[in-house]
This record gives sequence, C-alpha cells and structure tokens, in this order.
Amino acid sequence: MRIILLGPPGAGKGTQARRLADRYGLVIIGTGDIFRDHVARGTDLGRKAKEYMDRGEYVPDEIAVRMVLERLEQPDLGDGYILDGFPRTVPQAKALEGALAAAGHPLSCALNFRISDEMAVKRLTSRLTCPDCKRAYNLSFKPPRVEGVCDVCGGRLALRSDDDEATIRRRLEVYRAETEPLELYFWERGLLRDIDAEAAEEVVYGRMIEAMSDLLDLDA
Ligand SMILES: [Zn+2]
Repeated sequence: MRIILLGPPGAGKGTQARRLADRYGLVIIGTGDIFRDHVARGTDLGRKAKEYMDRGEYVPDEIAVRMVLERLEQPDLGDGYILDGFPRTVPQAKALEGALAAAGHPLSCALNFRISDEMAVKRLTSRLTCPDCKRAYNLSFKPPRVEGVCDVCGGRLALRSDDDEATIRRRLEVYRAETEPLELYFWERGLLRDIDAEAAEEVVYGRMIEAMSDLLDLDA
C-alpha cells in the first residue's frame, strides 16, 4: 500500500498514521527526515538542498522529488509506506505519480484529514508537554489525570511556547494555500479519501479504516 498523508497541523494525522502503520506493516516516511539524512551524508542532493534550507527556502521540486524517489527504492518498505510531508505541490505530485506508475507501483490513496481552523487552533493552543520526560498532553482531548501534572513522572506541565494563536493561524493559512490544489489533484484521480478528523482519536481511527475499507485486509 502506498499512501499520501494530507491534513493541517492539529488534525492528528501523525497519530493516526502511526496506528495504521503499526497495524498494517507500513513504513512512515517523513520528508524532513529524508532531507536531513542527505544533508548529514553530504550527498550531492543534500548539499544542494542545504543551500535552500539555510536560506529558509523550500527545497526546489526537482531536488525534493529525486530524494523522495530514491528513498522509495530502498528495500526496507515492507508492505508499503505512508508519505508524510510530500508532495507539497502539484508538480511534485505529478512527478511522484508518474514515477510510481512507471515502476508499476501506483499510489493507493491520499488520506485527507479534515478539520476546521477553529478546531485546529483550539487543539494546538492547548498542547502541554512535560519538561522532564517530554510526554505530550492536550487539554482538549488528551488531558493529564491530575491537572498540570505529568501522569508518568509527576513533572509540572507547561504550555508549548511556539503555539501562540497568531503563529498557528499563519501556519494554517500557508497549509490551505499549499494544499487545496493538491486535494483537487488527487480528487480528480479518484485517490482522495476525506476523513472528518473533528472527533476523538478512536473515532477518527474508525473513520480512517472505513474510508480505506476497499484497500485494507480488515482481518489483518
Ligand atoms: Zn513527565
């Protein structure tokens, strides 16, 4: 199975992807990790990508696509993969789809976790972390058992400082502008699977499985 992951910050797609991957033997491929790996190994692609990343710019499509396709040729991908953070643009999606189709391994679907900006802001502004053991909590849907105290180590929980509302709204705006053309692109190809992610983790998980029921071996 070859899956693309779409959804704004706060949609919970990372958690859902992890559960799907664990149950069905898929590998989660984060494009940030691929880029960092190339940079760390000092490959040609990594050196080129680093010039853009150092300037705070996006890595150009051509370089990003080559790094991702190279990763997808590695033999460790088991029963498939979930791509997180790629493609970000329609040209990237076209390049990826073309290369996968040519290799005889077309995409299975693009999972699209949908959530309103209001819900995303609510979730992201209520994220807490334990400064001692780094465990994450959320006042909206995963609160600690005792207010302000880590369940695991008893540490004093703190709000995540990078999560102020103005910053979050800007990230959401960027996400929408970037992703709406991609949603259309995958929808036109019959690959888009919308999942209403405005519910508790367990409910969203059920919706995801249902949205993919024609692709999954549900007895697995
Ligand atoms: Zn803790």
